[in-house]
Amino acid sequence: MDDLSYGARNKRGDWAPNEPASTAPVFTFPPQPLKFLKWLPHYFLPYNVLFALSAVAWWYFVLPEPEVMKALAWGWVLKLFAANAIAVFLFFGAFELKLYILRSQGNRFKYNGKFPAEQCSKAFFFERQNVDNMLRTFGTGLPIWTGIEVFVLMAFANGWVPWLAFAQNPVYLFVLALLVPIIHETHFFLLHRAIHWGPLYKWVHSVHHNSVNPSPWSSLSMHPVEQFFYLGTMFWHLIIPSNPIMALYQLHFAGFGAIPGHVGFDKVELGEDTAVDSHAYIHYLHHKYFEVNYGDGLIPFDKWFGTFHDGSKEGEKQMQVRYEKKKARLNAKAEAKKSNETDRAGA
Ligand SMILES: [Zn+2]
Ligand SMILES: [Zn+2]
Repeated sequence: MDDLSYGARNKRGDWAPNEPASTAPVFTFPPQPLKFLKWLPHYFLPYNVLFALSAVAWWYFVLPEPEVMKALAWGWVLKLFAANAIAVFLFFGAFELKLYILRSQGNRFKYNGKFPAEQCSKAFFFERQNVDNMLRTFGTGLPIWTGIEVFVLMAFANGWVPWLAFAQNPVYLFVLALLVPIIHETHFFLLHRAIHWGPLYKWVHSVHHNSVNPSPWSSLSMHPVEQFFYLGTMFWHLIIPSNPIMALYQLHFAGFGAIPGHVGFDKVELGEDTAVDSHAYIHYLHHKYFEVNYGDGLIPFDKWFGTFHDGSKEGEKQMQVRYEKKKARLNAKAEAKKSNETDRAGA
């Protein structure tokens, strides 16, 4: 496919789409019914249906009877851990293999002209982004993922929280399934905004941002504290009356769903002239500029808080204005502190 009919490449080899990034036409005012209807299939396809189906598959093929899940035992926990690890390896690995190892579409539709393998950095274990990202994903990410999952499943199995059956609550649970992405977006935005606060950023979130040029394995490459709170979105189903399959869907949405934002390509080519949109641009811009796009755009939080960057020149200008203001604010604060100290020293 000719990526230059969809976007432009600069001198450094970075490609950007012609269409600026946009948030979903859901929480817009005034409402945009036509745009909404056109967008609606994307709410389900391809990712959300896949994550929901995977939750059902885990329930029937990976997990034991609820009776067994009442107690901790190596058997079912290790089986669950293995299934999670294999699924992540295959799912993330498929993107990695196609786009970064075989490089089947070269750098067509690639936001950053360079491949991480071409750049070594001291920020990473063994100076390699891939190795570092995989060590973090499998070393701490998957144990934390499975740990949270085991705790929530035990809570349901032991009756510590209500377990709503599908047969008795079909409408409620269907609506809850529709809300899973909205719960995720809200949880993610609030958490993400919080860990961009200076001290937490340094201690926790900077690990994820070491990957300035994200690739599939960057998706869950985070500090363990971030992994816990990010995947902990599953805990909401202990507070909201729910069902274990719904809780699994929420977890898979976060775990497997981390990948779309980190693919690094705007479109993944499937043939000569077919391609699927990755929906990665908003989060790519976050990795590039740090202080924009804390959310993924399902709910326009960033527009409401003035931190949205759509990738256009206009978006760039707005970001610069914000930086200048922030700098002025910090300078004023430093000045005030200094004059306070001189006053005190004088007194
Ligand atoms: Zn990221
Ligand atoms: Zn961030």
